[in-house]
Amino acid sequence: MQLSPRQQQIVAIVKRSGPITSRQIAEELNLTRAALRPDLAVLTMSGILEARPRVGYFLSSKPSQALVAEEIKKIKVGDVKGLPRVIRASASVYDAIVNMFIEDVGTLMVVDEEGHLEGVLSRKDLLKAAIGGGNLQKMPASVVMTRMPNIICTTPEESVLTAARKIIEHEVDALPVVRPVDGQAKKLEVIGRLTKTTITRLFVELGEGRS
Ligand code: ADP
Repeated sequence: MQLSPRQQQIVAIVKRSGPITSRQIAEELNLTRAALRPDLAVLTMSGILEARPRVGYFLSSKPSQALVAEEIKKIKVGDVKGLPRVIRASASVYDAIVNMFIEDVGTLMVVDEEGHLEGVLSRKDLLKAAIGGGNLQKMPASVVMTRMPNIICTTPEESVLTAARKIIEHEVDALPVVRPVDGQAKKLEVIGRLTKTTITRLFVELGEGRS
């Protein structure tokens, strides 16, 4: 939220002299109380100022940092997730490398014929296979991928904050976005992906006030 110059002046006055009545603020700014009312309404509704009858206005005990955190917690993975980039476990490591270039991604999700998650392939997995000296055209991706049940996933309903924490804690670049398959315990359908780039883009949008 961008405060107007007058709203910034009001916050400065309240910071310096609060608790202070609206009459006193109006006097300092050479305005009528009526002219001040919309700005005071904005500042109290946004949680920056608090008002108490017969006391006046004072800076909110809840810092606006907390308000930012509350807004961030409301953003769900489903609001920002990207399309899944998938490959079959039977595909060769060579094809996986080509796929990574064509799709311009750093992580591929490995799925079975029904689109259910089997594993994850990262750049390092493929580099490891490449320096191993084997025949990359013949080596199946399943040999080098990280496989289920060791895959860290997220869901569209999860908050982006929780998912971002998983990325940091598990030191990975991307999480498959999944949903359980009806009647098939342990099976997960891949419906998207959440990457460090997704989070960075969101961060920039929030910073620029676009999200
Ligand atoms: P890079 O290899 O480019 O550094 P990562 O840090 O994401 O990429 O991958 C490191 C290792 O973690 C790889 O072996 C990869 O298979 C594995 N990995 C990547 N994403 C996940 C995930 N969501 N869950 C579990 N393991 C993962």
